[in-house]
Order: sequence, then structure tokens, then C-alpha cells
Amino acid sequence: MPRTITIAGNWKMNKTATEAVELAKPIIQSIANQSEITVIMCPPFTALHAVSELIANSSTRLGAQNMSDKASGAYTGEISPAMLRDLHVTHVILGHSERRSYYGETDAIVNKKTLAALENSLKPILCVGETLAEREAGKTFAVIKTQLVQGLAEVSASQAENVIIAYEPVWAIGTGKTATPAMAQEVHAFIRQELTGLFGESTAQKIRILYGGSMKPDNADALLSEVDIDGGLIGGASLTAKDFLALVEAGKTAAAKKV
Ligand code: PEP
Repeated sequence: MPRTITIAGNWKMNKTATEAVELAKPIIQSIANQSEITVIMCPPFTALHAVSELIANSSTRLGAQNMSDKASGAYTGEISPAMLRDLHVTHVILGHSERRSYYGETDAIVNKKTLAALENSLKPILCVGETLAEREAGKTFAVIKTQLVQGLAEVSASQAENVIIAYEPVWAIGTGKTATPAMAQEVHAFIRQELTGLFGESTAQKIRILYGGSMKPDNADALLSEVDIDGGLIGGASLTAKDFLALVEAGKTAAAKKV
């Protein structure tokens, strides 16, 4: 069975709750209850409730951009898995490179969050990717291997089917530089090989691996036609309905070709 193509929008720290509704409304009206691909919107925490109400009767999924690994208690400023579940959140982005570099999230922290998400029936979108310096030093595969092995420690094979990996080369995020389809495919194939080592062939074949890093309507078709690229995690181009809808269309086209 082919892996379901997934198009996920990471809005980052953009859009008030009011602006989020303005962005999400035309998207949801346009894609209605399409079932060919999985579409996920990841607004900031403060807009989750408003967007959750909008997508209540649609097939679109709601994602958060971060989460605490703790269940509750004296953790000022943190948001628990149960709080997200209560807002009908189904997915959570974990280990984004901005969280790793600006907020000191290590692989050990990302692992705790991944385990907490899975225990609470939230699907983690686990981000991995190398910096430009790491790529130039020939360390891409080593860096990604460490992020996968440590980030997925103690995850069982059955849990792993609910994990989505996002390969996001740090040098391509928000820079307008995109990995070529061949460069991205090479790393995606490596990730699938590592997942096979961790969880076995049949599980690894089921895990979706998204590409992220300046994916736009004009480069999406080529990226999504690669065999191990199962969708996109999209930052900048998820902030206008026109671009995001074009990416959803690209996802549907790729899904039709990959049947
Ligand atoms: C991201 O940060 O997840 C991302 C892929 O951003 P952009 O599409 O803007 O490069």
C-alpha cells in the first residue's frame, strides 16, 4: 500500500487567532473533505482553539508546533499533551531546528517529547536535518543517524508507524535554497534505511518521511515525485491560502502518480 502523501503547514510564530481564522477558512472551504492526502495545519498554540473549531467537520488535521513531555504540574509556560488532545490536536512537530538551535532542545529532550506524544496518541512529526557546515564537512548522514537513533530511542515498532519524520536541511529553511530532488531523495533513502535497521522493513516502509526547506508550489512536483519523499513540511508557503492550496494540489497529483 502506498504511503499517504502528507502536506503539513508550520505557521511558526505567525498569525493571531483572528488572522489564523482568515488564513484557514478559505483553505478548508476549498479542500473540504478531500481524502486523497493528509493535510495538517500547525498554527501557534494561541490559535489552536479557533482553527480546531473551523476544521471540526473536515478531514484536515490539526498540529501543534511543540509540546511538554510532562503530564501536568509546576512547569510555567508549558503545554501538556492532554491540553493539546483536548483541542483535537492530532499531530505535534518536535525537534524543529529552530527549537534545537534557539531553545537548546537536545536529542534527549526531543526523545522524551516523542515518547510522551506517542503515549498520548499524538503523532509526532520528528524533524531532523544537518546544518550547512555539517553538510560541507561530509557529516550529513552521521548527524541524521544520531538524531534518529537518539530521538526515537525506546520507541517500539508498532508506535513507530505513528511517527512522521521530516527531513529539513537547516540550510534550506526559510532561505529560499532548496535541496535538489536528488539531494533530498538521497537523504530520505538513508533515513528509510536507518528506520529499517531500527524497526524492520515492513514498519520502515509505512513511515512517512516529509521534506521541509523552502518547498514552494514551483518546486513541489519534482520533490514529491521522488520515491521516498512522502510529502512536505512547509513554513513560508503555508502562510498564504493560495500557496498552501497549490501545495495541496501538488500533493494530490503526487498521490495519484504513486498509487
Ligand atoms: C520549516 O521551518 O519547517 C520550513 C520548512 O520552513 P520554510 O518552508 O519556510 O523553509
